[in-house]
Amino acid sequence: MISVQKSLRLHIALLGRVNAGKSSFLNLVAGQDVSIASAVAGTTTDVVEKAQELIPLGPVVWLDTAGFGDQTELGKQRLSRTLKALDKADIAVLVCEGARIETEEKQIMAEAARRNLPLIKIFNKADIFPVPEEADGISVNSTDLSSRDRVLNRFKAELIKKAPEDIMNPPTLIGDIVKDGGSVVLVIPLDDQAPKGRLLPLQVQVIRDGLDHGCSVTAVRDSEYAGLLSRLATPPDLVIIDSSVVGTIIPQTPAEIPLTTFSILFARLKGDLSKLVEGARALTELQDGDKVLIAESCTHHAAKNDIGRVKIPELIRRKTGKQLEFIHLAGCDFPDNLADFRLVIQCGGCMSNRRTILSRINRCESFGVPITNYGVCLSALQGFLPRVIAPFHHLREAKAASPHR
Ligand code: SF4
Repeated sequence: MISVQKSLRLHIALLGRVNAGKSSFLNLVAGQDVSIASAVAGTTTDVVEKAQELIPLGPVVWLDTAGFGDQTELGKQRLSRTLKALDKADIAVLVCEGARIETEEKQIMAEAARRNLPLIKIFNKADIFPVPEEADGISVNSTDLSSRDRVLNRFKAELIKKAPEDIMNPPTLIGDIVKDGGSVVLVIPLDDQAPKGRLLPLQVQVIRDGLDHGCSVTAVRDSEYAGLLSRLATPPDLVIIDSSVVGTIIPQTPAEIPLTTFSILFARLKGDLSKLVEGARALTELQDGDKVLIAESCTHHAAKNDIGRVKIPELIRRKTGKQLEFIHLAGCDFPDNLADFRLVIQCGGCMSNRRTILSRINRCESFGVPITNYGVCLSALQGFLPRVIAPFHHLREAKAASPHR
């Protein structure tokens, strides 16, 4: 089986109180032991991720959360971690004992609703706890293996009905800004931050998206870009550059050639480009003593000239002339409380799914804290933001004109 990046998979959060039978439900629908199933209460103590191919939906990741419902301090911590899993889920599956909906189940349903997260209720142990006919959910006895096909078909039908549109039909990266059959040039520096012997997943994704739209795609290092442009008989329909070379590549590119960055493309695909552009305005309003959160979605090894730890803080200090405090966070954790921060700068999020980045944007909004990302920030600091977002203007105008938006 060809493996699919985790960030492109449908993320399904599996939630339920201790002993509701989450793990045995997962085993039933997965047809194999993909999670620990045990009669011992509270076996699953943290979120366990498990990839699966769920035909015809395609690749999914289950986020198997700790059971909730015990009133100990540890139980409360488990519930809080469980709720955090909702931040990266595309859909939630709540496993209940029969149709038992108590305080915690209501809390989960409310949190899912607050996030606009679709939720499927599974009424497990329906043989022991009778479920009223009008109850809105799927009745299951997850220990009855003979019921597997019926449950699986019903469950998949619900998933397909409720899965977000952008997961079922992922948006294009460049297909709506380059005409079919157009030509695209990618400028990829092979500096000390480039992985040895391979391209980054987001660069590969752009190539694939271009090919899907019948485009010819040419990749070139920044050092060979000027030579390539001079040899082309007709100018490219789009140039896509790495954010780290905007300062050198943009001056070499005639104004009539549309140009953007990989980061901008992914800010649009994984987040909300207009909000990240809006957030970049805060760069001009920073004051001495302000705290800036730099949030990275993975714990990669930081290179000498790391973009988040070195380049961006240095550039912001130089451009603003302010004494700022930069706080770096790497990995899945994102602060619950953002009130202390004046600005959040999110990394490109290549390892995260769209829902994770949108959750971070929403949390910043709820605290009134502007958020931008590396690519938008770098372009803004160097004065190139209007140029790199220009290829998307006609889409914004089309959306604004649409009576169905
Ligand atoms: S963009 Fe973010 S998730 Fe991707 S490698 Fe950099 S820090 Fe990690």
